[in-house]
Amino acid sequence: MYYNENTILYLNGEFVKASEAKADFYSQSLHYGYGVFEGIRSYETVKGETKIFKAIAHFERLRASALSLNMPYDYTTRELIDATYTLLEKNNLKDAYIRPLVYAPANMSFNLNHESFIVIEAWKMEPFLGKKLLRVRTSSFQRPNPKAFKIEVKATGHYVNSILASQEAKAAGFDEALLLDMHGYVAEGPGANVFYEKGGKMFTPPPGNILPGITRDTLIELCDEMNIPLEEKHFTPAEMYEADAAFFCGTGAEVIGIQSLDDNAFCLEWNETFSKMLQDAYADKVRENQKVLLNEILGVE
Ligand code: PMP
Repeated sequence: MYYNENTILYLNGEFVKASEAKADFYSQSLHYGYGVFEGIRSYETVKGETKIFKAIAHFERLRASALSLNMPYDYTTRELIDATYTLLEKNNLKDAYIRPLVYAPANMSFNLNHESFIVIEAWKMEPFLGKKLLRVRTSSFQRPNPKAFKIEVKATGHYVNSILASQEAKAAGFDEALLLDMHGYVAEGPGANVFYEKGGKMFTPPPGNILPGITRDTLIELCDEMNIPLEEKHFTPAEMYEADAAFFCGTGAEVIGIQSLDDNAFCLEWNETFSKMLQDAYADKVRENQKVLLNEILGVE
């Protein structure tokens, strides 16, 4: 599913066959969940080019994540973006999900390391949460307390929390979980940020107890461009039950509507919401459709 015998990955400066690449079973990352990663997408634009969406923002977040966890990080964003474009070419990929992972050497102690390793993998991936409106359930698991973890960092170990929450929701017959923060306010999904719409206005939790997603930033920019009012605020699941619409957003999930939260259905038809307009605008933006339309209006080649 992720690779076959022809797949190439990028490993510490070299392009190697995924089926032949080796990792160290004594790595501190494997034993303790001490690693950082990114989830990035490339798209075939309307002009037929392959573009990595917000490549700089993603690789800068990878750097910030590594440094925040005291992991050595000697790569430049430019070299990693260039390596990723080469990787896409080598694997004949245009629309791809790209997964860089920075991991630690063999180390069973909790001490600092003197080097890190990096692997970048790419494969074709449909939207992570599917394309149908989701039935979501409030999780019994909270997001990690920001005083226990660097919650704004994309660290591998944080995803044990995501896996538990998602598995719990699915075992109860739902599509996905919604996690609260330690104060009982809505935080985010296991792998996506959340927005709701009420009376023509969008609401999303502020940074602090969430991974402040790059897709979330893009949607905030789109709200601004489209003159849709937006407020970052803390809210409870009970407030969200009264919403007109809601969605999850993330690089893997893109923008996906939520049908109901804890079996409370949202009142507007998805197609009649600002949320749906934002979903379409996001799809246009990643394929640079918007830019083409704008240039046509402005008469720019
Ligand atoms: N929250 C969590 C917990 C995530 O795993 C993700 C996916 N990276 C997001 C939010 C969305 O982040 P982004 O838009 O940067 O992909």
